[in-house]
Parts: sequence; C-alpha cells; structure tokens
Amino acid sequence: MNEDAARAEAPGPAGRNWAGNLAYRAQQLHEPRSLEELRDVVVREPRLRALGSRHSFTDVADGDALVSLDRMPGDIEVDADAGTVRLPAGTRYGTLAAALHERGWAVHNLASLPHISVAGAVATGTHGSGDRSGTLATAVRGLELVTADGEVVGVGAAQAAGDGAVARQLPDVDLDAAVVGLGALGVVTAVTLAIEPTFDVAQEVYPGVPWDDALADLDAVTGSADSVSLFTDWRSGAIGQVWRKSRVVAGWEPRTSLLGVPRSTVELHPLEDVDPRSTTAQLGVPGPWHERLSHFRMEHTPSHGQELQTEYLVPREHAVDAIGALRRLGPRLAGALLVSEVRTMAGDQQWLSGAYGGPTVGFHFTWRLDVDAVAALLPHVEEALGPFSPRPHWAKLFTVSGAGSPTALRAAYPRFDDFRALAARLDPQGRFHNAFLERHGLVG
Ligand SMILES: Cc1cc2nc3c(=O)[nH]c(=O)nc-3n(C[C@H](O)[C@H](O)[C@H](O)COP(=O)(O)OP(=O)(O)OC[C@H]3O[C@@H](n4cnc5c(N)ncnc54)[C@H](O)[C@@H]3O)c2cc1C
Repeated sequence: MNEDAARAEAPGPAGRNWAGNLAYRAQQLHEPRSLEELRDVVVREPRLRALGSRHSFTDVADGDALVSLDRMPGDIEVDADAGTVRLPAGTRYGTLAAALHERGWAVHNLASLPHISVAGAVATGTHGSGDRSGTLATAVRGLELVTADGEVVGVGAAQAAGDGAVARQLPDVDLDAAVVGLGALGVVTAVTLAIEPTFDVAQEVYPGVPWDDALADLDAVTGSADSVSLFTDWRSGAIGQVWRKSRVVAGWEPRTSLLGVPRSTVELHPLEDVDPRSTTAQLGVPGPWHERLSHFRMEHTPSHGQELQTEYLVPREHAVDAIGALRRLGPRLAGALLVSEVRTMAGDQQWLSGAYGGPTVGFHFTWRLDVDAVAALLPHVEEALGPFSPRPHWAKLFTVSGAGSPTALRAAYPRFDDFRALAARLDPQGRFHNAFLERHGLVG
C-alpha cells in the first residue's frame, strides 16, 4: 500500500496515528475528565484500549473503543526528599522536562523526540541511547492504574497521591512485570519517576566517521559520551553522522574530533534534505539537558515527518556481527530507507523490555512512507538479524511471521509466558485485549 492508499482508509473518531499509516478503527473515543468518569468507562466498555499521544507505528493502541487521558486533570508533583516526580499519565515528556528543569530537576534520558506521552513511552519500552543509560521505563518507580474491574490500584513505590485515590497496592505484581505493559494490564492514570538534579549537556556531531575505524573498537565509540547515536545508510564506508551527548560535569572539556574526524562546525539534521532548525543545539555548546538529550525540538516536527519506523533490539555482544549483517543488506534497503540509527542501552529486568537481561544495542530504521515497500523488506531485515535473537520495538513495524511471531517472541523474552499469565489474572475477561496483543500471542 503506498502513501495515498494508506491515507485513504477512513479512520474512526480517534483519527490517525502521527505517521498517518494507521487509521484507528475504534468506533468510540472516550475522553474522561475525572477518575470517576474513567472508572465508569472502564467497567462499561467490554473492550477498551488506552491511547497515548498516537506516535506508535503499529496498531498496539487500537481496539474496539479507546480512552484518551488528555482531558484528565492532574499536576506534576516533585517530591524532593524521595527524588521522584508524580505526573498524570498522559503528560508529554516535553512538558514534563520543562517543568522539572524549572524546579532544578531532570530525568536520566529522553527518546529522540519529546512529543510522546510518558505512559505510552514506558508502556512500549521506548529508549534513548547510552551504554550506562536504561530505557525510559527504568526510571519508573510507581504506577497507578485502573484495572479491568474498575479498581484504582498501585504498583511499586508510587509517590503519595494528593487525591488519595489508590485503593490498594496490587499484591504479587512488581514494576518489572507491569511497566512495559502494552496497555494490557489496565489504564495507567499516574506515573512516578526517579529524578535527579538538573544538569547541562553538550552535543557534538561528527559527519563521515569510517566504519572500519569505529568497528575496530565499537565500545570506545559508544562509551565516549553519555549518549551516542550512529546514523547510517548501511551502504557507505563511513557512518553518515555520529551524535554524542555528554553531561557537563567537573573535568568536562569541549571535544573537537572523533577518531580523527573533526566535529561539524554547522548544525546538522540526520537527514540531509531536512532543515536542522528542528534539531536540538549542537556544536558542543553546553546547555540544559532537556534541550540536548532528545534529537528534535518540541515545537518542530521531529524526524522526517513523512515516514515509517522499525527497530530491533539485540544483545550487545552481537553488535559488531549484526552491523556486518545489516551492511551486507544495505544495497537492498536503499530505495526505502531514509536513515538508520544505532543506539545502545543498559540492560534491565523488565519482562517485555527490549533491553531485558543485559546490555543491548538497537537497530532503528526510518523508512519512506511506503507501507508495501517496507512490508516487503522487513522479512529480509529480520532474516539478517535472525541469528541475534532480535526483539522488535513494540511501537514500530515488524512482521507477525518472523521476529514478531509468538514463537520468536517467546524465545526472545524469557518472561513472555509470565506476562501472559499476569494479563490473564488481572484481566480475565480480556477487556484490554486487541488484535495486536492477540496476533503476537501476548494474551489469550
Ligand atoms: C518521530 C518519532 C520518533 C521516535 N523516536 C523514538 C526513540 O527515540 N526511541 C524509541 O524507543 N521510540 C521512538 N519512537 C516510538 C515512540 O517512542 C512510541 O511510539 C511512543 O513512545 C508511544 O507513546 P504514545 O504516547 O504515542 O503511545 P500510543 O502510541 O498512543 O500507545 C502505545 C501503547 O501505550 C499504551 N498506553 C498509552 N497510554 C497508556 C495509559 N495511560 N495506560 C496504559 N497504557 C497506555 C497503549 O495502550 C499502547 O499499547 C518514535 C516515534 C516517532 C513517531
């Protein structure tokens, strides 16, 4: 299906996702204005899905009926003693970041864009980059959610709620089980995140770093800053751009070269034909964390805008071999690929996290908005990465016959069946089921 055909499908009342490739088929969109209204919607709708900021490329959020929390009231509350912030689940990272910075606080990392909702991002295992930096979900210290029976429950060490709405903590459910929850366990109403004192970051971009030099010691490259991204077309002998983000701490000094390649003296967009004004400040100039940790600015369209995305997470020890496999595939991807991004992340214990179990590397693909061309290529990408047990990013496009088959997912996620059992226990009637969860064997 090409761009025009993808857009031709008529959406329900929730409209389309950010990319426009998905017309939400749900025939009901609820927008409750209070916790009571939300609880009422949950017990009334036999099939209901929570909708975040609509940035996923898959139908992970879609269902028979949707509930958006955009009209729910709530404040961003910092608990300085606990080092946490409690926020309404639908809050965008960009809104949260500005509020935290103003009060002298920060979160540990951001994704490439600040436009996404906190609940949707953590529910899908969204991440930034950094050898020592866990996914965004690893900052979660507590969740408050409305479960299938309409009860408001807490998981983890939720910051004391001003409204005292949480009826009880869920017994036998810990955060590792529930944070990357894909909307299958309930509607999250508030999230408590770990925070730290605000810090400055300097961002530098290096165009044209030879692959051979980088692969000679990849750990040195990805460990050379707090967050490193490699942008590549997989075909060239050089990495198109290396982005480095470094915390400005005692002893920090500006750097001007990477493996002998000089730092860019002009700001760059990862895509040659897109205006770099939409990107965050570069050139090694220190500034607030939230104006550097994401690649793109809140007030601009992130990335390309007319695109699809895919990403696979692979155990870090396979990084060099997986890069080799993708470079061999590069010529085949040429017509459909806008750019790829390689990022690293620290491992975690969250059951459905792409970084479960140990250090991880992510291979991201920004594709042209051509659904058919991407669908035809995905089996080849998954075959190339097959030897490395790729975990597909839940929010980005993947197949149901390869890396996204229930069999492959069960092999890639050691706690897959535990998650199924938890979802069945919390939601025995399947109120939060949808086609995505069923297709990939996550419920049922
Ligand atoms: C331009 C662009 C750049 C991106 N860059 C990155 C990146 O750098 N790193 C990365 O990892 N990903 C990236 N993504 C993917 C993106 O992070 C996810 O698509 C997004 O975080 C999902 O959040 P959302 O609010 O849009 O959720 P939605 O797409 O609306 O929903 C996603 C899932 O979250 C669930 N959910 C949402 N709200 C709730 C709630 N209140 N309670 C329970 N469940 C809920 C939904 O049910 C659904 O299962 C990018 C996407 C785009 C469009």
